[in-house]
Amino acid sequence: MAAWSAVLTTRRLLSLLLLSLVLGACSQPATGGDPATPSRTANSPTETADSATRTANTTTQAANTPVVVLDPGHNGGNASHPAAINRQVPAGRGRSKACNTTGTATAAGYPEHAFNLDVARRAGRRLTERGIEVGYTRTADDGVGPCVHERARIGNEREADAVVSIHADGSTDRGAHGFHIAYSAPPLNEAQGEPALRLVRALRDGMRGAGFPVAGYLGENGLSGRDDLAGMNLSTRPAALVECGNMRNPQEAAAMSSAEGRQRYAEAIAEGILAYLGA
Ligand code: ZN
Repeated sequence: MAAWSAVLTTRRLLSLLLLSLVLGACSQPATGGDPATPSRTANSPTETADSATRTANTTTQAANTPVVVLDPGHNGGNASHPAAINRQVPAGRGRSKACNTTGTATAAGYPEHAFNLDVARRAGRRLTERGIEVGYTRTADDGVGPCVHERARIGNEREADAVVSIHADGSTDRGAHGFHIAYSAPPLNEAQGEPALRLVRALRDGMRGAGFPVAGYLGENGLSGRDDLAGMNLSTRPAALVECGNMRNPQEAAAMSSAEGRQRYAEAIAEGILAYLGA
C-alpha cells in the first residue's frame, strides 16, 4: 500500500510539474528577441494593476488574435555604454549603423527614452483592453539597447500584425513642432508596401483626430518615407515609426513631460493601430 501510494504521489507530482512547465512557458516574456521564444506568447506584464485582465485575455486568446509589437525608442542606459551602443549593426539596404542612440530630451532634461517607454506602456494597456496581444522590444528604462536590428527581429519573430516604434524628435528649432510618421521607402518587401502605408496613414489619422498637429518642418502631410531607418528597413511586418513631436518646442515639451499629455499621445497611437487592425 505504501509503495503504491508513493508511486501515485510521484505520478501526481510529475503531472503537476508538467502542467506548471506548460503554464510557465506561456508566461515567458518575449522581450529581448530571444530566438527560443518566437511564438505568439503574451509579454509578462511589468505592472501588476491590470495583470488579472491580461491573464484573462491570454487564456481566451484565439489563434487569430491580432499581435502588435510596440518599440519604445532608445533606453536609459545607452548614454553610459557608448561602446555597446556605437558598435555597427546591420541597417538594411546593405548598410550598417550604430546599434542604438541616446535619443533627445526636453530643455528641462526630461529624456526621450522615458517618454517613449511610458507612452508605449500606456498605448499597450489600451490595446490589451481591446483584446490585442501586445509585445514590447523593451519593458524597462535602465537597460542598454536593444540594437535596432534586434528590435526589428522581435517584431518579425512575433509575426506581428503591426510594429510601431515610438519616438520624439529633438529639432534645435524651438518653433518646429508637430508629429510625423516615418516608414521604409522605397519598400524592401511586401509588408513594407501597401500594408505599412495603411498603418502609417491610420496612425497619422489617429494622431490628427486626437488634435495633434502635423509637423510643418519634416515630412509631407505627417508622413515621411525614409531609407535610413534600420528598424523599418529590416522589418518583414507592417511597421511605422511615430515621432510624436519636438521635445525642444516648449509647448510640446510641456505636454510630453506630463502624465496627462503622455496618455493623450498613447491613446492617439492606440486608436490608429486599432483602426488599422479593424479591431
Ligand atoms: Zn528617438
